[in-house]
This record gives sequence, C-alpha cells and structure tokens, in this order.
Amino acid sequence: MYDYVIIGAGFAGAVSANLLATQHNKKVLVIEKRAHVGGNCYDEVDENGIVVHRYGPHLFHTSSKEVWEYLSRFTEWTPYEHNVLAHIKGKNVPIPFNFNTIEALFAPLDATRFQQKLLHYYAPNTKVPILDLKKHFDDDLRMLADFIYENLFLHYTAKQWGLSPQEIDSTVTARVPIFIGRDNRYFNDTFQAIPKNGYTKLFEALLDHPNITVELQKDFLNEVCWRENRIGFRNDFTCKVLYTGAVDALFDYCFDALPYRTTEMVFETIDQAYFQEAATINYPNDHDYTRITEFKHIHPTLSPKTTILKEYPKEHRKEITVPYYPIFNDKNQAQYTQYMQKAQHFSNLTLIGRLAEYRYYDMDDIVLHALNTVGNV
Ligand code: UDP
Repeated sequence: MYDYVIIGAGFAGAVSANLLATQHNKKVLVIEKRAHVGGNCYDEVDENGIVVHRYGPHLFHTSSKEVWEYLSRFTEWTPYEHNVLAHIKGKNVPIPFNFNTIEALFAPLDATRFQQKLLHYYAPNTKVPILDLKKHFDDDLRMLADFIYENLFLHYTAKQWGLSPQEIDSTVTARVPIFIGRDNRYFNDTFQAIPKNGYTKLFEALLDHPNITVELQKDFLNEVCWRENRIGFRNDFTCKVLYTGAVDALFDYCFDALPYRTTEMVFETIDQAYFQEAATINYPNDHDYTRITEFKHIHPTLSPKTTILKEYPKEHRKEITVPYYPIFNDKNQAQYTQYMQKAQHFSNLTLIGRLAEYRYYDMDDIVLHALNTVGNV
C-alpha cells in the first residue's frame, strides 16, 4: 500500500513525507508515537491564552534561501529576532558576549582596552569561539577569555551536558561565540521569524496531502513490530523505511545506550503581565535550571498573566525520558558509527534527523538535509 513508512513527525519526518508525496508522487505512511505532529517543535495555546513551545523554545533562523522559500510555502511568518540575557555577577547582560556585554561588566578603562585588543586581532562583526580566545597569546585577551569562560560557559555547560566545555565537541560552545561588535541578537542569520500561526500548523500543512497518511499515538518499535529481532528489515521488502527516532532504540541497544541529555520542562504561570525583561534569561551560575523563557516575548499576547518555562537538563534514561541532545564527542561518535554501520546493512532503511543521525542539528539544518537527500531520491 505504501512506498515509504516514516517514523516520526518532526522536521525530518514531515519534510521527508512532504517531498516524497509532492515531488515523487510516493504514498507515505507517517507513524508518530506522540499524540501530535511537530516533534519537539510542537506548540499550543496554554491555559493563559499564550502560545507555548512544549519542548522548549524554538526560534527559527536560517541563512539558506532554499530552506526559507521551501517552508514559506507552508506558513506565513512573524519576524522575530531572539534576544538572550545572561545573569552574571548580579546583572542581566546580553549574549552572545559582545562589546555591550563587556561595557556592562567591566570598568570603562578595562572595557575600552579589551575592545581595542579584540579589534586589533579580529575583524569587526566576526565571531570567535570561546575555546579559541582562551588560547590567545595576548595576556589581556586571555584574561578576558578566562572571565567569559568561568562566568558564562563553565557552569552552564556542566548543568547542560554534565561535562566541561573541553570534554564536549568544540562546535557546541562555538554556537554561542564572542561577537566582535555590538550585535545583541542571539542569531545573525539572514532569515529569522516564527511561523505566524505556530509550528504545529506548519507541520499540519507539510503533512496535508492525499498521498500522506499520519497515524498518531502509534509506537513503531513496540507496536508495529518491525524491530530487527522480531520481523526484521527485509532487504526484499518493497516499502522503504525512513527512521527519525533514536537509533540505539531501533536496534535494541545492541551497542549499549547512546548518551543523550534530556531536559525537564517546568512551566509556571505568574500572576503578573510580564515576568522578565527578555524572551530568555540564562543562569550560568545560579539555580539548577539553565534558563527561563517567557513566551509572551515570542508570541505577544494580551493577558494579565504570563507563562514561563524553566529548563532542567538531566541525564537521559533510556525508554524513560525523552532524548533531546546527542552528547557529541569522539567516544560517543564511535559508538554511533557502530549503529550507523549496522543500519547500512538494510538497503531499505534510511536514518535521518537529530536523533537518528546523532547530530546537534538546528531546525534549518534538518530541513536542508531532507531537501538535499530525500528531495533528490
Ligand atoms: N552555553 C553556555 N552558556 C550560555 C549559553 C550557551 O555555556 O549561557 C554553551 C552550552 O554548552 C550550550 C551551548 O553553548 O549547550 C549551546 O548553546 P545554545 O543556546 O545554542 O543551546 P540550545 O538552545 O540548543 O539548547
């Protein structure tokens, strides 16, 4: 009946389904464990009438015209540039750490010296990863880097990953670089916006096609029974499988559980119009949570109350908690490679997405990846 079965209705699954149905005229069955589509991008209106992102804040940004134009076929957008503050030494200061942050935290003479040194060694409006700045031969810049490392990265990363910045792939902390200039925006991609009617509606539009059937609340591994040790992925099977879930679960943890971090999302209603001055405030050095997001800043709403979200990162426990972040380092990558090699034995199986590929993909990375692979099958 179906040409493809896709497991998971997040970005990897929904975009793949849409491309197969629309560009290749394939019949697609999408199987989703949760009661909704959208994966971790899922949003809904809460009891305060405020749009909340149930699995943590999702702020769409991309510099890919291709991704932007493709998604714009399924949603209108509300322009939105994300601003994040970090609570450091009793002050809320802008991050990525930039010239404004330096001025907020250092005496004027020191701030000027740091800014001049940065401009001497780096071009204006460029980004410098903290781990690079820490190795700089200039004493002043190393002093600045040590301050930023200690106050912004070290304890946040310990909470977020259970590791120090050196123990995790350097691309992770490089996501929040030192910015040589005064741009306070968290992202500086060309296109930055929120789907006008929310992410969930965007996913519904992606999946709205006569060739696509979506089955919600169906657990592929436990109910559909195509797990290798039961029926098996048969190479002669005509239906192709695109799997977007955690790859270790697919193969019954045969090479042990892959390390992921999970996040406990704690929503709170506050009985006042606004709670904080920015959409997200990070707490590198205080509390067990990493950050507080107030959704009214992302989706402006007239309400006497406000909804905030505190994120508590935790160690993922297989089959109990939701895997959110692959913990990307050499050791775990080697373990993942074993799973990937096993998957390659099944010619009708494709792994795609953050969990299945064990990659720290952003939303636009996944869409581009699907466009480049599934779009061209
Ligand atoms: N990070 C940090 N302090 C911060 C913000 C980020 O140390 O205030 C580090 C931390 O290791 C984090 C990584 O930078 O996991 C990437 O941060 P990002 O905000 O991109 O994470 P996400 O929004 O994907 O959770």
